[in-house]
Amino acid sequence: MAEKQQALVMTEVKNMEIKEVDLPAVKADEVVIETAYAGICGTDNALFNGLPGSADAVPPIILGHENSGVVKSVGADVQYLKVGDRVAVDPNIYCGKCHYCRTGRPELCENLSAVGVTRNGGLEQYFSAPERVVYKLPDEVSLREACSLEPISCAVHTMKIMDEITPYQTALIIGDGYMAKLFAQILRAYGIQNITMTGRHDDLLAQEKEQLHLNQVINTTKEKIEKSYDVVFECVGKPETQEQAVQAANPGAQVMMFGVGAPGQTFEMNTYEVFKKQLTIKGSMINPNAFEDSIALLKSGAVKIEPFQANLLRLDEVQGVLDHSTPKVGKCVVAVNPNLK
Ligand SMILES: [Zn+2]
Ligand SMILES: [Zn+2]
Repeated sequence: MAEKQQALVMTEVKNMEIKEVDLPAVKADEVVIETAYAGICGTDNALFNGLPGSADAVPPIILGHENSGVVKSVGADVQYLKVGDRVAVDPNIYCGKCHYCRTGRPELCENLSAVGVTRNGGLEQYFSAPERVVYKLPDEVSLREACSLEPISCAVHTMKIMDEITPYQTALIIGDGYMAKLFAQILRAYGIQNITMTGRHDDLLAQEKEQLHLNQVINTTKEKIEKSYDVVFECVGKPETQEQAVQAANPGAQVMMFGVGAPGQTFEMNTYEVFKKQLTIKGSMINPNAFEDSIALLKSGAVKIEPFQANLLRLDEVQGVLDHSTPKVGKCVVAVNPNLK
């Protein structure tokens, strides 16, 4: 009989239940991982409510696409990983066959599958993943911070698809959520010196200014964004903040639309200004080939994560966060097995 484990199963849209399920069987080119930590993000919120994330999640499914853990077993064809390795998982599995994969843009893959979205993820004690998306961690990187390698990698991908990034540029980050805080640190690592961040609460902004060594913070409930910037990172995903992002762009600026809007959402912009300022306005989709850079950012200490992982949850607390019956402020990380080191 198969071994059993505890899992948080999304049985249908807007419902999750702790269930006893079989451990995943290990396929030839896959590994089974004992979950240490699993991060919860806006994508999980979308999936829980039946909206698409990077792909569709069809219940019953076990979410959790931001994962770290320890390898429990390896398939017969696994080459580089072994039992006991501390790892993090890039959830996105590209087909390698479609037009976009074959033209070097796997993030646009037509057949994207993802751990914790289209197949079971880390909101259970043990999950499986193909070896090619599993990354071994250096000793300097904790399992707790490693569960955020996926969101870090999404920000790193944004940096990779930008045109020139160089120290003279001034940066505006719109929003002060978890991704905004990651961007503030990653921008510095990529050489940008002058960083302004917007938010909605004076106390939080004051704290963020100090922790993230920001040049300026702006509370947009009280003040206008007066200056304009060479690179703008929209990290909220609402029409009003998307409008702010374009309006705050210098001539020649790059405006990165990172925040995920609702499907069908639109915003207004002055297209003459787009022409006159020769603006680049760009979206950023997931995170191919970014995990090694993200691991280096954590290992070097250039990006610090644990101070910003505001809430450590148990598996049975996840539904309350997603359905807002017990809402949390700040990043939520599920400590599935915090005893793993
Ligand atoms: Zn995520
Ligand atoms: Zn593809």
